Amino acid sequence: MRVALAASKCFEEKEATYYLNSKLYEQLFDIEDALNEGFSQFIENQIKELDRFNAYHRKNCTGEGCELCQTTLIT
Ligand SMILES: [Zn+2]
Repeated sequence: MRVALAASKCFEEKEATYYLNSKLYEQLFDIEDALNEGFSQFIENQIKELDRFNAYHRKNCTGEGCELCQTTLIT
């Protein structure tokens, strides 16, 4: 029973990931930079941007009420 639950949870996550990916690619067609750079390059750049932002935030976080904390996507 536990295994079946774990398996169905895993399946749902895969479905969700697939759904998000297909949505993401749909969105990318509307982003000119993504078309120009190529999707994988564009995503790589976005991740680098996010890394830079997170590094900046780690150094400049003021703790409670921090403005950056409100905008951080990945903590
Ligand atoms: Zn912060």
